[in-house]
Amino acid sequence: MELHFLGTGSCYPSPDRGASCIILRHESGCWMFDCGEGSQIQLMKSCIKPGKINKIFITHLHGDHLFGLPGLLCTIGLNCSECRQPMEIYGPVGLRKYLRVCLELSQSQLGFSYSVHELKCSNSETFCQSNMADFIPSDSATSDKQHANETCGQTIFEDEDGLWQVCQEGNLTVFAAPLKHRIMCFGYVIQEKQFPGKLDPLLLKQRGIPPGPLYSKVKNGEIIMAPDGSLVTPSEVMGPPRPGRKVVILGDTCDSSMIVKIADNADVVVHEATLEDELKETCIDHGHSTPEMAGHFATSVNAKKLALTHFSQRYKRISDPVPTNVEEDGTVSKLVEQAKKSFSGCIIAADDFVVLRLSRKV
Ligand SMILES: [Zn+2]
Ligand SMILES: [Zn+2]
Repeated sequence: MELHFLGTGSCYPSPDRGASCIILRHESGCWMFDCGEGSQIQLMKSCIKPGKINKIFITHLHGDHLFGLPGLLCTIGLNCSECRQPMEIYGPVGLRKYLRVCLELSQSQLGFSYSVHELKCSNSETFCQSNMADFIPSDSATSDKQHANETCGQTIFEDEDGLWQVCQEGNLTVFAAPLKHRIMCFGYVIQEKQFPGKLDPLLLKQRGIPPGPLYSKVKNGEIIMAPDGSLVTPSEVMGPPRPGRKVVILGDTCDSSMIVKIADNADVVVHEATLEDELKETCIDHGHSTPEMAGHFATSVNAKKLALTHFSQRYKRISDPVPTNVEEDGTVSKLVEQAKKSFSGCIIAADDFVVLRLSRKV
């Protein structure tokens, strides 16, 4: 499992940093998280094949997370074969209408089917009262005509715990929870199923089972017969199940506390750090976080790794030469240092085309 950062800048794409876009590459495909303007160019420069993407998750409807989506879909359509699997798109209410209008007015045909599944709050007042949004987009375009390539998507409401159970595919389940931002915004948690425990060769030997085909049978969950005629169940000769990996990808936020309950023990948290700690007041006013706030969140969920992203374009990449003749704001390494004040685990400043590998727990 890998995270490919394709766009790590806030607000707009620049020659130095693309707008928000991350790919989670896993065993059975590629999922995109946010699709800011220019994401398709970033994708073409990366090793990810656009045709492999079968799910796209949008955190919120701000342009720096969304403006690349219609163009990307059109380009995938140009290059896809008839039998391409449908594209499943998830995001806040309003996303379906946005895509319909964009595709309809530009008279775009995709050549493959897509559906938009909208995350909706059953009580919009709940959103307002908890200050999650001061603007709720009007309901999706249910009365408007579906696009020719569109198939019916679901409306997903929160469960009794206030969480959105977004989707499940293979051994991955995706949950969402709201974040405090200037408009309705979500964070996504991707949870992998637990793995079976490891075979214990000592226990197998004690039961007289020789290495060979019986090992793979019991490993695959089958009950096998020992040479003495007794039955051996997998649980007798295997260690405890190993937890699956957990990836937490947050949208823009000045308060991520509402997702804490499902983000515990994350292997990696991707959290925005738009501005440095010294600008905390401005940052929160704009609905964003500083490195110290991101670090605090990572600590509160006992994360192993913290990947900072969504940097103001004022911060240079670590590898860039910092100009000496202008008043500059430094590199993102300054932001990493600030996050260390509130998080003692591994911290990286995401950069475009950085790949973060998440190995299985042993
Ligand atoms: Zn943003
Ligand atoms: Zn935003």
